[in-house]
Amino acid sequence: MRTRITLACTECKNRNYDTTKDKKTHPERMEIKKYCPFCRKHTMHKETK
Ligand SMILES: [Zn+2]
Repeated sequence: MRTRITLACTECKNRNYDTTKDKKTHPERMEIKKYCPFCRKHTMHKETK
């Protein structure tokens, strides 16, 4: 069972990525380092609702 989540840049707060996650393996909010086209660099992206 996978849940749709949105990943937002922690620096500019833009929601750059839509993805899915398995709530059994990641019950808490995910944080992933991804490229942000607005910051034009890699930043931490946090799961938002
Ligand atoms: Zn950003």
